[in-house]
Amino acid sequence: MSAPSITGVRVFVTAPEGVNLVVVRVDTSEPGLYGLGCATFHQRFAAVVAALETHVAPLLTGRDVSQISDIGRMLHFSSYWRGGPVLNSALSGIDMALWDIAGKRAGLPVHDLLGGRLRGAAPVYLHASGATIEETLDHAESLVAAGLRHVRLQTGQPGLGAYGAPGTPGGYPGAPYPDGWDVHHYLAQTPRLFAAARERLGDDVELLHDVHSRLTPKQAAVLARALEPYRLFFLEDVVAPEHYDRLPEVRAASPVPLAVGELTASVTDAARLVTGGGVDLLRCHISAIGGLTPGHKLAVLCELHGVQTAWHAPADVSPIGAAANLALDLTSPAFGIQEGHVYADVVHEIFPGTPVIAAGYAQASTGPGWGLEFDEAAAARHPPVLGGHERWAATVRRPDGAIEAP
Ligand code: MG
Repeated sequence: MSAPSITGVRVFVTAPEGVNLVVVRVDTSEPGLYGLGCATFHQRFAAVVAALETHVAPLLTGRDVSQISDIGRMLHFSSYWRGGPVLNSALSGIDMALWDIAGKRAGLPVHDLLGGRLRGAAPVYLHASGATIEETLDHAESLVAAGLRHVRLQTGQPGLGAYGAPGTPGGYPGAPYPDGWDVHHYLAQTPRLFAAARERLGDDVELLHDVHSRLTPKQAAVLARALEPYRLFFLEDVVAPEHYDRLPEVRAASPVPLAVGELTASVTDAARLVTGGGVDLLRCHISAIGGLTPGHKLAVLCELHGVQTAWHAPADVSPIGAAANLALDLTSPAFGIQEGHVYADVVHEIFPGTPVIAAGYAQASTGPGWGLEFDEAAAARHPPVLGGHERWAATVRRPDGAIEAP
């Protein structure tokens, strides 16, 4: 019996939470059989749509849907200059849609095609934030009360550029840029946040923090050492990707586990992070590295190399991408933790079957493939938004006016 063939590729952009989610639907010659994939690159969604519609879709008509690896390699090499977040996101949309089709044909969820569950559900962490340390810990307490055992803490500081927490305009009057973000204030305040968190939340909750790439390697070592008494589960993105080759010296300076990788848009770069001795938890953005197939390769590499996984998944991963992360989480011995996002009700309307978080665990749909549907009419009621990230990123500057890695 020959496999069905691909008859068409359609691309949708929907922004129900103000974040541009790019969804790919691959249709097949078998009536009613189609697959859904996540090609989300919120900040450059239109480039991904063009790559898919103009360059990728014409290569797929008539292709056998079972040839996931061959199609992925063909698409990867077909542009000659390959990789990067735009082309990888396009590739991810196709890759995930073909895995969805494979699951539907087998009548099995994708995690069963990857070897089956090693765990019943994936423990997740959620984000607690506030303008002050007090507000951040109020938020964290409410998450712990809801059953979370892992919480990321971010707090505000003078200026607009605080990551993951509200900013305060005019923090540095008289400076060239009065709304600036000051690294020295950040380095002094962050240990105070975690000291207060251990006081208030006790020892039974795991604490996480995201630096968002803003430190020099030496500053990162200083912060990691200052945070040692508070037993962080991980410290994320301490340096910018331009300085990843300096990660081993940061990691050698402190036992605080380092989580790195969401800005990696190359599976081979991610592999070098795993083997390079600078990372304890790899946390790639699954669409930016090309989808489930490369994600699975990296999970296997992590398993063999003693590195854990913590796939990136805030609001700029669609429920389809979240389902792909969960398929890896449930099946990989390298699993460390999963970043969680509580999708708004409107997202569940657009994507029936969206994974849910209950009592600190993300539960996968048990339906075939991703176990998800996509309501095109509901999605069309939430058109894409332009420039939101750029408007914020432009405000992230030092008090002297110099732009900061956002
Ligand atoms: Mg991050």
